[in-house]
Amino acid sequence: MKEIKCLHCETWNKAVHTHCVHCGQSLDDGREAEAAQRKKTERNPIPVIEIGEEEPFIQKLWKRPVQWAQLIFLTILSIIASIASSTVH
Ligand SMILES: [Zn+2]
Repeated sequence: MKEIKCLHCETWNKAVHTHCVHCGQSLDDGREAEAAQRKKTERNPIPVIEIGEEEPFIQKLWKRPVQWAQLIFLTILSIIASIASSTVH
């Protein structure tokens, strides 16, 4: 069953609810935020790790160089791929 997180009290609610079972606030905000989040991830086709804004600082600290390393690695791969395809033809 799909669940929606209440933005007001962070309680997980079943998707069938329109209002939070815990605090009674509308869950539509959470639905919109979730849809926006999904759109954001769809727009990014590069398979690098995500850094969430709500993540603790220390987690961002180690994730950032990892993300850079992944980006550099993917750039090198695409360069190699383009060189390989240009020499084949
Ligand atoms: Zn709530």
